[in-house]
Amino acid sequence: GGNMARYEELSVEELEALRAELKDEYRRYQTMDMNLDMSRGKPCREQLDLSNDMMDALDSNADMYSSEGVDVRNYGVLDGIAEAKELLSDMMENHPDHILIFGNSSLNVMYDSISRSMTHGVMGSTPWCKLDEVKWLCPVPGYDRHFAITEYFGIKMIPVPMTEQGPDMDMVEELVASDEAIKGIWCVPKYSNPQGYSYSDETVRRFARLKPAARDFRIYWDNAYGMHHLYDHEQDYLIEILAECKRAGHPDLVYKFASTSKISFPGSGIASMATSLNNLEDIKKQVQYQTIGHDKVNQLRHVRFFQDIHGMVKHMQKHANILRPKFEMVEDIFEKNLAGTGVGEWTKPKGGYFISFETLPGCAKAVVDKCKKAGVTLTPAGSAFPYKKDPNDSNIRIAPTYPPLEDLRIASELFTLCVKLVSVEKLLK
Ligand code: PLP
Repeated sequence: GGNMARYEELSVEELEALRAELKDEYRRYQTMDMNLDMSRGKPCREQLDLSNDMMDALDSNADMYSSEGVDVRNYGVLDGIAEAKELLSDMMENHPDHILIFGNSSLNVMYDSISRSMTHGVMGSTPWCKLDEVKWLCPVPGYDRHFAITEYFGIKMIPVPMTEQGPDMDMVEELVASDEAIKGIWCVPKYSNPQGYSYSDETVRRFARLKPAARDFRIYWDNAYGMHHLYDHEQDYLIEILAECKRAGHPDLVYKFASTSKISFPGSGIASMATSLNNLEDIKKQVQYQTIGHDKVNQLRHVRFFQDIHGMVKHMQKHANILRPKFEMVEDIFEKNLAGTGVGEWTKPKGGYFISFETLPGCAKAVVDKCKKAGVTLTPAGSAFPYKKDPNDSNIRIAPTYPPLEDLRIASELFTLCVKLVSVEKLLK
């Protein structure tokens, strides 16, 4: 690395020679008949194995009563058993009184929150379905499933550029203050999906001090990666948003979401929401019709397994030990093959599940296609944007967690090769 030529400074002859060389190398990959997948932000098998003992934490001999004497096998307890609230509130850095425990998915809770606002409004305001237009701010690049929810409900999505400090707050402040149709914003404040950026103190403070024109505007603060550090001694810290909103005199401004999906088992974890008492009351009015209570057996199982937040922190270090070599290997290969070429930039997150890659403008789709044709599946280009439209066609989300190290090595080598080949072809056009 380091001594490679900037592609933009190469002559046509040099580019043509480079293209021939890269094409040969690409053909060699094609003959390898690979079938690798770098598209999914899922934990790998070794990570799932870390939580297998949870299945023994509640065996047929176990005491099935919660600390408050509730038989967890039976109906009841709408907002979650006390010890689960305590564990999740420590995880979320909020008081247990501000927590509501839900089912197995936080995305589900976000969907329901928008659905409820559509049909019944927010704290007595007009249901959104009766309004001519509902709009939503979408920091980009962002999480495709967030954008899919707002698209499903016909909410008009407005992209807001991300910076290393979080969303462009000048733009956020101006838009929410001037347009009553804007009812929310998607935020992944820590180790964001896909860039791995964490919001700065100033960004969090400005969020808490937003002055939305709409009374029923809510910040959807999806703290999906709150505990998901890669390093022990280099972690991102955030100002806690509920407390900051309260200090700013806007206690009801935020819904905060989290889950244990990538702590225990995705699909079989616990989701939870933290918000003001006013919001909780409003939300419970709906949830009480939706269910008699969520899965308390699973709640107790999680508490018996982790014991407390210290157990969870230790558990997350084991995840980090598995994930750190994967992230570092991808970054090393990117550096080795692309440094100095000027045809790609990538983020180097200290946590979360993704690396975000920027190609030259107009190259992302072609890179993803080329990888696919040589047997490596990436997240489709454009996925990280509302309506799947990346205006620059330059963003690619890299998901290093799922494949085994050796697969990841080959996939990363091929990826950088495709980036170079597509860039050369672009420059020759
Ligand atoms: N939020 C973000 C930002 C995510 O990246 C993911 C999963 O990739 C989720 C939520 C899904 O959370 P859950 O499993 O709790 O529904």
